[in-house]
Amino acid sequence: MFTLSDIRQACGDSARFYGLASEETERLFPAAHHDSRQIEPGDLFIALKGQHVDGHHFIPNAARQGAGGALCSQPAEDVPPSFLQIVVPDVLQALHAIARQRAQRQQGTIFIGITGSNGKTSTKEAIATVLSRQAPTLKTFASYNNEIGYPLTLLRLEPQHRYAVLEMGAQWVGELAWLCRTIARPHWSVITNVGSAHLEFFKSVEGIVQAKGELVEALPPDGIAFLNYDDPRVRGMAARTQARVVYYGTGEQAEVRAIPDGGDPLRGRRFLLSYHGEQCPVQLHIPGDHGIYIALAAAAVGCAAGLPLAEIRAALESLAPVKGRGEIKPGPNGSTLIDDSYNASAESIIAIARAMQATPVEEGGRRWAVLGDIFELGPHAEREHRRAGEALGGLVDYVVAIGDQARHYVEGARAAGLPLERTHYFPADPHDRSALEEAKRAAAALLMAEVQPADLVLLKGSRGMAMETMLKLWSAEP
Ligand code: ATP
Ligand code: MG
Repeated sequence: MFTLSDIRQACGDSARFYGLASEETERLFPAAHHDSRQIEPGDLFIALKGQHVDGHHFIPNAARQGAGGALCSQPAEDVPPSFLQIVVPDVLQALHAIARQRAQRQQGTIFIGITGSNGKTSTKEAIATVLSRQAPTLKTFASYNNEIGYPLTLLRLEPQHRYAVLEMGAQWVGELAWLCRTIARPHWSVITNVGSAHLEFFKSVEGIVQAKGELVEALPPDGIAFLNYDDPRVRGMAARTQARVVYYGTGEQAEVRAIPDGGDPLRGRRFLLSYHGEQCPVQLHIPGDHGIYIALAAAAVGCAAGLPLAEIRAALESLAPVKGRGEIKPGPNGSTLIDDSYNASAESIIAIARAMQATPVEEGGRRWAVLGDIFELGPHAEREHRRAGEALGGLVDYVVAIGDQARHYVEGARAAGLPLERTHYFPADPHDRSALEEAKRAAAALLMAEVQPADLVLLKGSRGMAMETMLKLWSAEP
């Protein structure tokens, strides 16, 4: 919740107020949203100009939905005269100023920033699950991790929150440093890993290391950096801060350590959690060896917060896959489907395919990887798709590729020895909706004709490929 005076104070003299009765000096906004569909009565609508859509067009919608006002750079005309419009020169800057003020007032709250190439949202959920066992904890909604989502999250801070678990994405070198400088810096930073995701914006992996490490550089001297010891690029970030470093990983050097102990590669690994001479077994219900790192990061934060290992264990054992991140569902013809369709990078494809490969299947069962394009790779697209394809060649029995760059999965898999007849490519321009749907329908028809009940099927691709729409294609079977 925040008030009109908060906005006045944050925006200073630059704000003009329309539709405000002269006797009205204060107003309370329960929440702020930049999507008018999320507006509940009384909320503030933030009219941001995006690449494709200008939020100003939706001010009348927000007003009809009972918004308590709009923050905008131009007042809309087709709203009731009594509808409050706060007009500022730059809406994003105003949003940042309001969030900054909010964060500064929240003296007792520990801000925990999470970044990395893969697994930010899953790690954010895991950390919040652990910390909520100790005290009220705010967490980023979905993947609201950019210059809009980060301040919107901070506006949801309430005095009772002891922790704020904040997903922070970076698309350019300097972005995280800027968010920390202009809005709020974390007290604790968690780095998951460095991979090839979003290479288009960074040019090189070195650029990604530079960008993600800014969250470590931003730490105050009494802060804590939680670093994945098993990822050398993350480990090396220790040199970029004076703050205390807590390593998590599977080796002896890690202060918070997992000693793998079997379990199910897909449905959840088992490990011994070891911290300062104490040990406790943990059985996960999230997929893959990468699930261990998600759990370890959360355990490391929990240990720093002083939670007993038994509490951390209970929290970790309660974790389930986040939507589209390795959910097990019914697949075509009674097969088992791994819905990892939320997003894809070469590393995350390889990670889940390894989990598939390590999973025993019934006699005659085969492993299928159904994959759409990975976006945002720029000139590295061919190499990254090929790299994933080459790994898949040794991990699965069939590759079904859909999209444009997806053809390089198939090339990679064939180069790695997968027989021609076990690779299928359905070409489509990913930005041509109907062509993409057509390609998905053709791929689904192949799967419905070929997949058997004992098979494992992986579904994955970039968010923009919306690979989950294929689920409807076989669940619609008679
Ligand atoms: P986004 O940038 O889209 O917000 P994110 O970093 O928040 O993504 P998640 O949504 O948690 O990440 O997961 C995305 C994909 O990465 C999932 O398929 C997940 O299983 C996978 N993943 C998580 N951790 C790892 C890891 N350590 N290595 C490889 N893949 C991982
Ligand atoms: Mg995310």
